Amino acid sequence: MNPELQEWLDANWDPELSLLEWRTRLAASGWACPTWPREWGGRDLPASAASAVSADLAAYGAVGPPEGVGMHLAAPTLLEHGSDDLKRTYLPPTVSGELSWCQLFSEPGAGSDLAGLTTRAELADGEWVVSGQKVWNTSAHHADVGLLIARTDFDAPKHRGLTYFVLPMRQSGIEVRPLRQMNGHASFNEVFLDAARIPADHVVGEVGGGWSVALTTLSHERRVAPTGSIGQARPGRVWREALDEALHLRAPYKWYPQRAGRVDLLVPQAQAAGVTNNPTVRQELARAIALAWTARWTAQRAAAARKLGRPPGPEGSLGKLASSNVARAAARAHAAIAGASAMLAGSDGPADGIIAEILLSVPAVSIAGGTDEVQRNILSERILGLPKDPTLDSSIPFRDVLKNPEGRRR
Ligand SMILES: Cc1cc2nc3c(=O)[nH]c(=O)nc-3n(C[C@H](O)[C@H](O)[C@H](O)COP(=O)(O)OP(=O)(O)OC[C@H]3O[C@@H](n4cnc5c(N)ncnc54)[C@H](O)[C@@H]3O)c2cc1C
Repeated sequence: MNPELQEWLDANWDPELSLLEWRTRLAASGWACPTWPREWGGRDLPASAASAVSADLAAYGAVGPPEGVGMHLAAPTLLEHGSDDLKRTYLPPTVSGELSWCQLFSEPGAGSDLAGLTTRAELADGEWVVSGQKVWNTSAHHADVGLLIARTDFDAPKHRGLTYFVLPMRQSGIEVRPLRQMNGHASFNEVFLDAARIPADHVVGEVGGGWSVALTTLSHERRVAPTGSIGQARPGRVWREALDEALHLRAPYKWYPQRAGRVDLLVPQAQAAGVTNNPTVRQELARAIALAWTARWTAQRAAAARKLGRPPGPEGSLGKLASSNVARAAARAHAAIAGASAMLAGSDGPADGIIAEILLSVPAVSIAGGTDEVQRNILSERILGLPKDPTLDSSIPFRDVLKNPEGRRR
C-alpha cells in the first residue's frame, strides 16, 4: 500500500459518511484521480499509479470514485481539450458522482462512419440550437449531461464541419427513448433533439475541430472496459449507499460481465457438468483461456509502455479486438459445455441463466466503441502501413456528399 495513501485513509476513511460526503472528500484529496494534474484535482502521478491506487483503496475497504462515461470518457476528454471554465464546472461534480454523463455520437446513418453524422447545431442569439437524432446511447435515460458531436458547417468537408459540445440533458428539447436488447436489458436509448439548447461556451476544443476531440474520447473508450461491479461490499453507510447505487442506477448494466464471455466460469461450469474429459470441450476451453491470457499479456505490455512514458499506441484497437475474440471463444466454450440447455434463460438455465445471458450479450463487444472490422482497418493502416480505403467524400463539402434519400433532404 502506498504509505501516503495509507496515512490519508487512516485519517479520513469513515464508513458512516454519506456516499457523496466520502467521494467529495476523496476527490479533494486527489486520490480519486491520482494521475490527473494537481490543478484539476489529481496528484500528477504516472498512469501506472491508477490501478495500484484503486487496488489499495479496495484492499483498505474504502469505496472508490464512480464508474462510467463521466470518469472514463468525459473527464479525460475535458482534461485534454476543455476550457478552464468547462473543467471547473464539470470535473468536480463528475468525480464526486453528482453528475452522470452519456455519449451522444452514433446516429441511425452514422456509426462506423461517424464523421458522416447529420445532427445540426447552429448559433442563434448567443446559444447553440441542436436538432437531429442519436442512437445506442448508453445511460442517456439517467444522464445529466451528454458528450455530443454535431455538424456546425455543412459546407466544410465531412471531418472538418463537426463541433464537440457538452450538452445539458435535462431540458424540453430532448426526448430519450429506451431500447430493449435481445438479452432483455435496456441500457441504451434513442435520443431525439428538437431545438435543444447549449450555452455558447460549452464547445470542447474549437468550433469545427470536433473530430480530433472525438478521437480522444474514442481512444479512451477502446482502452477501458467498465465491469459494472462494486467488488466486495462492507458494513457502513458509504457501502450501503454504494451498493444501492450499484443495484438501482447500474441495474441496466448488470449484463456487462457476461458480455466479456465470463472466462472465469469456464472450468467450474465444465467440472459441474462433468465434461472435463470431453475432448471437444477441452479444445474449446483451451482456446478461450489461451486467448484470454494472451490478451491480458498484451494489456500488461501496453501498461508497461505507458509506465515508461510512451504515448498510447495501437493497444486500444488491439485490446478491443482481443476482447471480442475472447468473448466469442468463451461463448463457444460455454455452449459446448452446456449443450442445448445453454439456451434456457432465467433460473431454469445453467448457472441461473447466466450462460444464456452470455450467449446473448457477447455480440455487443464486437460492435460497441467501434466494430471489429473498424479496429482491423485501424490496425492495418496504422501498424501494417497498408493503403487506406479510397474515399470519395472526404475532400468535398459535406452538403455535396451523396446520401440516402433521408439524408439528402437536409
Ligand atoms: C452495447 C453498445 C453500446 C453502445 N453505446 C453507445 C453510446 O453510448 N453512444 C454512442 O454514440 N454509440 C453507442 N453505441 C453505438 C456503436 O458505437 C455503433 O453501433 C458502432 O460504432 C457501429 O455502428 P453501426 O451500428 O451504425 O454499424 P455500421 O457502421 O452500419 O456497420 C455495419 C457493419 O458494416 C461494417 N463496416 C462499416 N464500415 C466498414 C468499413 N469501412 N470497413 C469494413 N467494415 C465496415 C461494420 O463493421 C458492421 O459489421 C453502442 C453500441 C453497442 C452495441
